[in-house]
Amino acid sequence: MTTLTAPLSIERIAKSRISEVDFQHLEFGKFIADHMAIASYANDRWGEPKIVPYGDLQMSPAMLALHYGQAIFEGMKAFKMNDGSINIFRPHKHYERLRKSLDRMCMPDIPEDMFIQSLHTLIHLDRAWVPDSEGSSLYIRPVVFASESRLGVKVSDQYLFIIMNTPVGAYLNKPYRLKVEDIYVRTAEGGTGFAKCAGNYGGAFYPTQLAKQQGYDQVLWTDHKDHQYIDEVGMMNVMLMIEGKLVTPKLNSAILDGVTRDSILILAKEMGIETVERRISVDELADGLKSGKITEMFGAGTAAVVAPIALINIHGKDIQIPVAGAQSFQQKVKQKLLGIRMGVLPDVHGWNYIIK
Ligand SMILES: *Cc1c(COP(=O)(O)O)cnc(C)c1O
Repeated sequence: MTTLTAPLSIERIAKSRISEVDFQHLEFGKFIADHMAIASYANDRWGEPKIVPYGDLQMSPAMLALHYGQAIFEGMKAFKMNDGSINIFRPHKHYERLRKSLDRMCMPDIPEDMFIQSLHTLIHLDRAWVPDSEGSSLYIRPVVFASESRLGVKVSDQYLFIIMNTPVGAYLNKPYRLKVEDIYVRTAEGGTGFAKCAGNYGGAFYPTQLAKQQGYDQVLWTDHKDHQYIDEVGMMNVMLMIEGKLVTPKLNSAILDGVTRDSILILAKEMGIETVERRISVDELADGLKSGKITEMFGAGTAAVVAPIALINIHGKDIQIPVAGAQSFQQKVKQKLLGIRMGVLPDVHGWNYIIK
């Protein structure tokens, strides 16, 4: 844990908006919690972060982030534990990734204390916004972007760092129908795929929309060279059970290093399951599904934890994927992860950041 230095200045909202929220029917991102943390960077340094009511910002139309895309974010979750404490899941791991994203986009580093202290103070203040029904959580969105007003193509000299939060319900989407992408790419090796930078998502919308028009929910991204190896599914990492082993694409600069992926790999080993990180070809996927060697395929990410995949279109042909029952690896590991987060199972890895 980080030592907290001086407390952050807090400007409280005049009247909480929490009564507007229907906690029984939460829609992702519809309501943003009362407060946000904000800090600005200028003259080669970060100013003191503070907590203010969530609300609009003033900005210049020449703000550099809008033109040249220096904008990165994170996504993590806080849970209400069974004893009423609040648990932020692996914030230090998310912080490490935030730093990598900042570095790749030529944006200034954020000190760990500043990140953790802003997060802690904000979540503590808005703790009533952390839902407590099973599977629900407070989704935490840190974002950093270039705020300097100037039209020349340049690395910005000014930035804003903001953390905002939205309550989210249990993930109830039906199993995904996927299409293997063999025309477009999300990113390329050497590009920005490993960073959570805004442009990666804007660029992914078009191929995803085409897939949706064809009746699929998401695309399975493949390598940029010849679309032969699988990378990720939509905005999640992809995992397979192949002959009893958990197999996932080995990280490279085109693949986002997911915290959920990492957690599942660690838990699988504890469950006595061999894990393999290597390249997985589209041909192996097609053959493995036909022969029955592949028994499970799912997405892994903070939003869904585990997202079952029901069907995959490979080169124009739909192939069914076995239904993941309660005894499937993905359901068992999901329960295990939820158990750790809720404080029902021991947190042997120190993943929980608990706010009493
Ligand atoms: C955020 C994200 C993931 C999942 O990462 P988690 O840390 O598990 O939430 C995977 N792929 C992409 C492209 C992402 O943006």
